[in-house]
Amino acid sequence: MNDYRCNNCDFTLPSGSGGYSYIEDESGLRINYEEKSKSLRTIISEIWGFSDYRNWKELVRIHTGFNSYCICLDCLNIFEADISPNRNGFSKDDKICPKCSSNHVHTELELVGKECPSCNEGKIEKMVVPLI
Ligand SMILES: [Zn+2]
Ligand SMILES: [Zn+2]
Repeated sequence: MNDYRCNNCDFTLPSGSGGYSYIEDESGLRINYEEKSKSLRTIISEIWGFSDYRNWKELVRIHTGFNSYCICLDCLNIFEADISPNRNGFSKDDKICPKCSSNHVHTELELVGKECPSCNEGKIEKMVVPLI
């Protein structure tokens, strides 16, 4: 488990590993499946309600991804976006702040070691928190 925070002010970012793997349901809602201690197949059959796995690889290809925690450096909005490129080199989401439309956006992991966007004095540090 990692915490991400500024070494100067109280600016903190979501803890974890920078994001999470998700599967979309039929409405496009992204469900964090790392939290669930079930196999991806079980989760798919629960969410999509079928037991016919002929097309399940295709479903996985289209409807799974990785949501990264992103931070807008202009308005400090923290949001989730799938900005990892797929096999065609495109990402599902743009690296653009949904609140102020700025493209001055870093992922949480990119921000480690960089200047804090909140106080502009400290640095964002990754702290390893032992699981108790
Ligand atoms: Zn700071
Ligand atoms: Zn913004």
